[in-house]
Amino acid sequence: MITFEQAVAKALSYDARINKFAEYESSFEFWWDCGVDSVGPQPSIIMKESGERFLFSDAIFNGYRCGKFIREGEIPEAMRPSFFSLRDAVYGAAVGDALGVPYEFRERDSFECGGMVSGGAHGQPTGTFSDDTSMMLATCDSIRDCGRVDVRDMRRRFVSWLREGAYTPDGSVFDVGNTVATALTDGRGCGGERSNGNGSLMRIAPLAYTHASDEEIRAVSAITHAHRISTESCVCFVKLIQNLVGGSPLDLALKHSISGGEEFAFLADVASWPREKVRSGGYVLDTLGAAIWCFANTDTYAECVLAAVNLGYDTDTTACVAGALAGAVYGYRAIPKEWLDTLRGKDVIERCLFPGFEKARNWPK
Ligand SMILES: [Mg+2]
Repeated sequence: MITFEQAVAKALSYDARINKFAEYESSFEFWWDCGVDSVGPQPSIIMKESGERFLFSDAIFNGYRCGKFIREGEIPEAMRPSFFSLRDAVYGAAVGDALGVPYEFRERDSFECGGMVSGGAHGQPTGTFSDDTSMMLATCDSIRDCGRVDVRDMRRRFVSWLREGAYTPDGSVFDVGNTVATALTDGRGCGGERSNGNGSLMRIAPLAYTHASDEEIRAVSAITHAHRISTESCVCFVKLIQNLVGGSPLDLALKHSISGGEEFAFLADVASWPREKVRSGGYVLDTLGAAIWCFANTDTYAECVLAAVNLGYDTDTTACVAGALAGAVYGYRAIPKEWLDTLRGKDVIERCLFPGFEKARNWPK
C-alpha cells in the first residue's frame, strides 16, 4: 500500500495541466490500494482509516487547471467550492460590452480604455450595455421561460427588443446591426455570404449552459445569421466555452471545438499571432479569433476585456465575446467590483438568468 502523499503526488503528476483527474475517479481500485475509501465528484477523497476528507482545490490560469489536495477543514473560505454558471458568462459579456460601447468604431491605438466611461459615438451613460447583451438576455429569458430552446419564442423576444426596447437598461435601442434589423423585419435569417457579421456570435454564449444540440445552436444563430460561417462560429464558440469550463487547456479545448470547414482552421493558432495580425471588425470569424487571442494572451478577466476593447473598431462586440469567454472561465467573482457596480441594467440581467447546468469548481479569490 502506498501512502496518501505518494498517491496524491502520483495523481497530481498526472493531473497537472491536463486535468485528467476524472480518470482516477473511475479507477476505484487505484484509490483503494492507496488507502482511500472513496473519491467524490468534487473531486474529493476520504481516507479509509482516519476518515479524513481531502478536497482538490484548483484554479484555472490561462486555460490550464492547477491545484492540490487540501485537508477539508483547512480550506480557506475564499477557496470553498463555487460553481460555473450562466451568471459568469452573461456578466462577463455585459461588462465587456459596456466597456466597449464608448469606443465603438474608433481606430486601434487612437485611444486607451482602462475602465468604464461615458460618451462616444452613442453618447451613452457610463456602464450601458448595447444590442449584444440585450439580445443575449432575450435568449436567456426565452430559455428561462420555455425551459428549452424555442427559436420562434426567441425571435419574438428579439423583435420586442428591437421595437419596444425590451432587455435594455432604459428602454432605448441605440445600436442595431444591418443583418439583425433586416432578418427581424423580414421574419427570416439572412443566408448570404455577406451576412456574416458577428450579430449571432455575440448573443450565443448562454447556449453553453444548456444541453442544446449543434442543430439547435445553428437554428438559434439562423434567426438572424443563417450562413454556414455564422452558424458554425456559434457552434464552435459554445463548444469552446463548454470545453474550457470542463477543465480543458485552451489548445485542447480549441482542438475539440473547431469544425465547420477550412475557414475555421486559423483559430487553432490565432493565439500565437502578433497583435497587428488580429482583426477586430464586424466579421464573425474576426471577432471569434480576436476573442480567443485576447483570452490566450492575458491572465485575468480584466486584462482580457481591456485587450479586446483596445483592439479598436467593433470594440463592444469583441469585448462582449471575449468577456463571455473570460467570464465563463475566471468566474463572476473575477470581474472587478467597481465595473459591476457601474454596470447599468443589472435588474434586467437578473430577471433573465436561467438555472443552467452547474459544474463544481474551487476558485480562489
Ligand atoms: Mg453593440
